[in-house]
Amino acid sequence: MKIYNTLTRKKEEFIPITKGKALIYVCGPTVYNYIHIGNARPMIVFDTLRRYLLYIGYDVKFVSNFTDIDDKIINKAKDENVYFKEITKKYIDAYLEDSKELNLFESHTIHPKASECIDEMIEFVKTLEEKNIAYNVNGNVYFDITKVKDYGKLSKKNIDDLKAGARVDISGEKKNPLDFALWKKQKEETEPAWQSPWGLGRPGWHLECSVMAKKFLNDTIDIHAGGEDLEFPHHENEIAQSECCNEKTFANYWMHNGMINVNNVKMSKSKGNFFTIRDIKEKFSLEVVRLFILSTHYRNPLNFSVEVMEQTKNALERLYNAKEHLQRLIEVTKEQENKDITKLVKLKEEFLSCMDDDLNTSDAISKLFELVRFSNTFNENTDSSLVKSAYKLLCDFASILGLLYKEENVILDSKIEKLIEERNLARKNKDFKRADEIRDLLKKENIELKDTKEGVIWKRV
Ligand SMILES: [Zn+2]
Repeated sequence: MKIYNTLTRKKEEFIPITKGKALIYVCGPTVYNYIHIGNARPMIVFDTLRRYLLYIGYDVKFVSNFTDIDDKIINKAKDENVYFKEITKKYIDAYLEDSKELNLFESHTIHPKASECIDEMIEFVKTLEEKNIAYNVNGNVYFDITKVKDYGKLSKKNIDDLKAGARVDISGEKKNPLDFALWKKQKEETEPAWQSPWGLGRPGWHLECSVMAKKFLNDTIDIHAGGEDLEFPHHENEIAQSECCNEKTFANYWMHNGMINVNNVKMSKSKGNFFTIRDIKEKFSLEVVRLFILSTHYRNPLNFSVEVMEQTKNALERLYNAKEHLQRLIEVTKEQENKDITKLVKLKEEFLSCMDDDLNTSDAISKLFELVRFSNTFNENTDSSLVKSAYKLLCDFASILGLLYKEENVILDSKIEKLIEERNLARKNKDFKRADEIRDLLKKENIELKDTKEGVIWKRV
């Protein structure tokens, strides 16, 4: 498999540290709010990477942290006058609920919390202090970036330019404007804090990920991933501190996903064009979100709009319909003379080569729809082994992409709408028996109908 490595700005063959094993770390969310569509993108993309690596025979160890100590969390706890863990528990629970609906491979994910790795973080900072790379000023410990020869190697930034653009250090404690906090002194008594050689305090954000990757994976890992907004300074600082502490390469491959625009404008809280997964869930299932995110190559910007989501919803229904069509044909078709499966063999090769090419899910999905179009040409006279092979291939493609996971026989929106149309027509023709039958049928599927002046409204109950 080839992976685009941000570190070298090249597509490279993926060669793991240990043959057949992949150690992956993905920066997880800071748990002080519901996840938004921008958080969902790396979750889905790197979950798909894991699924693909598993499919081609890798043993994958996958770590994605919860940042549960951070200024944003502390401020929110202060605003709401609660203990910080009340905030983090609420949003971790919500995350796990959403991730289940996004079909993330949660049973195989290690989710460490920063607050549970404090001892290791203190040890890490002590090592850097002993090496004279970290310095303590009044209980705040900083990382001295002048001690790193290749600082900026990931983001390819020039240190002098960075220095000129760096925010002024109001405290005056830093030796260099680009130095960053490894350990932060407790400012108020209400702030969560842990005892350390530098007094009461808490870890800095960059430090958390370096320590959790080391603790749950190794000093050197295969793939470190996250959104491209984390490339600098977060990932640059992770590399600097990990490589200084461990004296080993931190990660061999760095993968970054692109950002999300909403109606072609960059998504941001200040612009008010900000969508949480919970907002989207009111209108679309999270499986539609998954297909939407995978329909664009992960390194490209992704444009979110209600129109595209509607189209994606229809596309997903086409997938379910094709699956149902093949399932039905498996029951009724018989073996025939013509057993030509060359088209399926070719489609499989093409699908896998898209996935091999830096996880090109966008092209892989077009192969999936080619399979759907081919399957839709099948009928009762098609050879049964061809039908079965097409069905198996459809299920394989879907499972690599993490799609078609809704429980079997869930009634689809398009079917419901068709039945409602039929009911309207029956009522118009005064065929009340049929109209009632349809109402009862939908009721059995937990669909409730409401007759209004504007027409029939339905909802799942
Ligand atoms: Zn991180």
